[in-house]
Amino acid sequence: MFRSSLVLLLVFWLGCSSSEPEPSPESAPAEQAAATAAPAGVDAVDDARLLAAADDTGSWLTYGGSYSEQRYSKLAAIDDTNVGGLGLAWHYDLGTKRGVEATPIVVDGVIYTTGTWSVVHAVDARSGTPLWRHDPKVPREMGGRVCCDVVNRGVAVYRGRVYAGTLDGRLQALDAETGEVVWSQMTVDQTKPYSITMAPRIVKGRVIIGNGGAEFGVRGYVSAYDADTGEMAWRFYTVPGDPSQPFEHPELEAAAETWDPSGEYWKVGGGGTAWNAIAYDPELDLLYVGTGNGSPWSHLVRSPGGGDNLYVSSILALRPDTGKLVWHYQETPGDNWDYTATQDIVLADLEIDGAERKVLLHAPKNGFFYVIDRETGVPISAEAFAKVTWAQGIDTETWRPILVDGLDYHNEIVEIYPSPHGAHNWHSMSFNPDTGLVYIPAHEVPYFFRLDPEFEYQPGHKWNLGFDFTVADEFPREVVSGHLLAWDPVAQKEVWRAQYTGPWNGGTLTTAGNLVFQGTAHGTFAAYRADDGEKLWEEPAGTGIVAAPVTYELDGEQYVAVNAGWGGAFALAAGDAAAAAGVRRETNDGRLLVYKLGGTGKLPVHEVIERELAAIPADFDAELVAAGSTAYHWWCGTCHGPGAESGGVLPDLRRSEPVIYDALEDIVLRGARIANGMPRFDDYLDEGDVKALRAYLLTRRAALLAEEGAVSETRSEAVAEEVAGS
Ligand code: CA
Repeated sequence: MFRSSLVLLLVFWLGCSSSEPEPSPESAPAEQAAATAAPAGVDAVDDARLLAAADDTGSWLTYGGSYSEQRYSKLAAIDDTNVGGLGLAWHYDLGTKRGVEATPIVVDGVIYTTGTWSVVHAVDARSGTPLWRHDPKVPREMGGRVCCDVVNRGVAVYRGRVYAGTLDGRLQALDAETGEVVWSQMTVDQTKPYSITMAPRIVKGRVIIGNGGAEFGVRGYVSAYDADTGEMAWRFYTVPGDPSQPFEHPELEAAAETWDPSGEYWKVGGGGTAWNAIAYDPELDLLYVGTGNGSPWSHLVRSPGGGDNLYVSSILALRPDTGKLVWHYQETPGDNWDYTATQDIVLADLEIDGAERKVLLHAPKNGFFYVIDRETGVPISAEAFAKVTWAQGIDTETWRPILVDGLDYHNEIVEIYPSPHGAHNWHSMSFNPDTGLVYIPAHEVPYFFRLDPEFEYQPGHKWNLGFDFTVADEFPREVVSGHLLAWDPVAQKEVWRAQYTGPWNGGTLTTAGNLVFQGTAHGTFAAYRADDGEKLWEEPAGTGIVAAPVTYELDGEQYVAVNAGWGGAFALAAGDAAAAAGVRRETNDGRLLVYKLGGTGKLPVHEVIERELAAIPADFDAELVAAGSTAYHWWCGTCHGPGAESGGVLPDLRRSEPVIYDALEDIVLRGARIANGMPRFDDYLDEGDVKALRAYLLTRRAALLAEEGAVSETRSEAVAEEVAGS
């Protein structure tokens, strides 16, 4: 502590004696310190600095920009009068063609971000010059143990270290200067299909981390590790475990009463995974954690006698020192539809009915916007912000949803809004205290639910939803859409929206410049006026964006940074719907894009190459093709897309080189492409299944050829290098 203070002082003194511009007199003291302490870096990120992160406008210190996770910046050099002059300052190639979900962290001139496979990158924030890269070497078979792409949402920084989770469940502390591993802790039971995609958060010297895996079958928990040593301080299980064993902590005794043990939920895990959302209120000393869906999805299978199944689909308020539960609010009791409450949590102080209220704002998958008193956990209001057909509304006495009758999907196919992709997913929303509005990357996507009558839990990397995947092929593509929604949390009503053709657009950033920034699924980065939604600027980003932007100031220049790279659940599982809606997908180069006023940088120019698809005879027995379709939608479709139509992230299996169809056994059963992230499935499939898969894929290829004629393949290759930034 003494040493870093000394460094800070020295830097401050050196900074003052150099030709740096004088801080303007109206700057807050914290802003002056941030501007002049530039080279101090992650060594100088301590509790005090994290607490003041919202004023530290030279950096972007935490996932949500501050503990309240508002993703609001006080910077206003770029504003609604000049944003039209925004241009690319530089870009950095992340070396991936799969989904990039990370929020970049910026500390005193260095950006720390993650790409795919949990690789961490450190680059110079002025120029994009690479500083170091850390590859945790995630085993590539993990590609088959995650629901939603091999993504990662970013790092945390603290006292000289960069903290990152890895897809296979490790939590790592890296030296911020070199990227070398200081400590590495396995946070999960590796015999179970756990994964980490979230950004860790640092609270009071501890690293807070959860995990995912509830589609496959795991038991959720969130843990705190000592930032210094990597030792675990506490763990809070979000659902009860095996009833023959003692409860790990007393909160689980109350939770167990809301589960029917005849469902043997603990064998599957029960779910409730805390895989994304965490916020912290230092004044109340409460850590807020969002929990995921029940596992398996079907409430009837999981808990045949009913019950709320605490604490799935809930907001938990925990003491950060002990992990003790202070309050909980369950948004979707007895969740039956994958309605996670893991969407970003935003804390704000709002005037409601004449009183100043400390609230928690939440727009989970289930389609309701909740304003919750964050001291007590009791909602103040809850209204639908999207099309919702599973509930009529939220009862304002009990704060429980009023369920719609006739949605029992256990015997027939039922169409329900929102889909498991959510009316809003992990794509971060932001809150602007100047406009009083929340900016939500919203989706309108229905889904067909049907119970799998043959469902039987299978351990391993099999999806265990209790849900019939083959109905995914009946997904109503033409009705899906997405929009940027500006929502008034006090009035609980829409103020404006920017309509998009497709769903699954990027997270949002809002600023004191009366701006909202958002990347889009159709491959652009855009800025809107925050109070009225007028689009002020938009530029091609090379590919679809799902991540959230950040902003920072260096040498008096404001920059806006965002990771581009189309991917994640919807892009994989229903990418054809997005493609039908016009999203960009022919090249998917993962890149960190950094903009400034007057930037003149250009992205590499691509040329579309057309290639003739070789016709391969596809005269197969109809029964074999049907068996292949079933196998495909059970085992392949969640990544390669329904109907074998890819969303552009993973290969479109109708357009493969002919040799691939002959090598299917090697690929599917013997792991010939495991280095590319294609897992082996010999635990679940045999030669007969592969034969059926081949028949199905070639039949789909023939159908494509019949539809499009002989020329089908379009592929883009860079033909010119980018022009250097100004
Ligand atoms: Ca889920």
